[in-house]
Amino acid sequence: MLKFSRNKLVSIARKDPDTLRIHGVLDDDLYGLEMEILVRLSDLKLISVSGKWNRWTTPECPKALSFLGIAVGFCIDEEGLEQKIQKTIGRRACRHFATLLIECCDSVKEVVRIIQWEEFRIKHPGLTFEEFLSGLSPDSSGSDTTRHVSMESDRIQDSQEPIQVLERIREVDSVPDRALGGMVIDLHTHSYPASSCSSVSEDQLIEESKRIGLDGICLTDHNYVWNPDRVKNLTQKHGFLVLRGNEITTDQGHMLVFGLDLDIREKGIIKLDELRREVKKADGYMIVVHPFRGFLTFGVERLGLNLEKAMKRPLFKYVDAIEVMNGKVTREENDFASRVADGLGLSGIGGSDAHKASEVGLYATRFQNSIVDEKDMIEMLKRGKFSPVAFRKRNKGILKKNRTATT
Ligand SMILES: [Zn+2]
Ligand SMILES: [Zn+2]
Repeated sequence: MLKFSRNKLVSIARKDPDTLRIHGVLDDDLYGLEMEILVRLSDLKLISVSGKWNRWTTPECPKALSFLGIAVGFCIDEEGLEQKIQKTIGRRACRHFATLLIECCDSVKEVVRIIQWEEFRIKHPGLTFEEFLSGLSPDSSGSDTTRHVSMESDRIQDSQEPIQVLERIREVDSVPDRALGGMVIDLHTHSYPASSCSSVSEDQLIEESKRIGLDGICLTDHNYVWNPDRVKNLTQKHGFLVLRGNEITTDQGHMLVFGLDLDIREKGIIKLDELRREVKKADGYMIVVHPFRGFLTFGVERLGLNLEKAMKRPLFKYVDAIEVMNGKVTREENDFASRVADGLGLSGIGGSDAHKASEVGLYATRFQNSIVDEKDMIEMLKRGKFSPVAFRKRNKGILKKNRTATT
């Protein structure tokens, strides 16, 4: 027998170009309440929150209304918003209002995506919503990067300067590889069958790495933990340094982790803060890869993304380094990642993200010291003794063509 049903209803309208008006209703067998919220699109902040009771139980309930204003200033895409609402509105006002507010905020996130999509469609009329989402959040693996993109709405055109593409030739790039000593390792590769999206076996990847003169390769298959003995066997079999890492899909994008033996496949998409804790426990190292993949595809000015905003993305607080040279993104996206890394004072790595043999070594990471095993590599990463390099393009005769390294 059904004891009660609880229903929440949210409707959202655009009050003016920069404001959404949200009306939420919650109704169950005991309580009936409504909320009216205004959200500013340019910074996704709650600018007004009010409520009313239709039905309630105790004389305490009406007092809750005066505490709803605590939520003014909360940002729809801020980290831990749900917990924050529960801790503030849930405790000071009432948990029913907290539940309803969370529902309203979640709905706003969806609406913001739809608005962004509609704006992109002005330039790209054929773009479906799914294509739009996969452009913002590639691999369509559910990583939810869109919520960190804030809207500039109609103010973009006059105030926003487009991102400038800087020619960034790192010092190390002008010096021949061998003359620098140390080791050059491609830290980001995918092999089949460990990564179903790859078309190259680990043996072929390793042989190609050896052929083009890399000093080592790191197998970083998606959400896949390589057995350390298998990796050692590969090193012996090919007479070439093979290491392992894991590219893990989190709620805030893809992370390369080293030194972590956790198999997360059963968990599905993991929360970044959870992963950070695991990596710390394991004394490992974590790098965000292709942090802006797809972001610049549609024209950055439409997204309202600028360096300052990009640097504030919460994910950067959780990582040890940023992949600033990735073989599968545009030069502009790499360049932007590089500027963010510089701005935040984080180290940058390079990796090809190869899914075919011909892509391995496009970009790689130079370590200043020699590395013989995984432990060494993590140690060198932690000491910051590395830099990203464009490797394949300087090995003339080997490189035929590639999409991004056209400098
Ligand atoms: Zn990835
Ligand atoms: Zn990858």
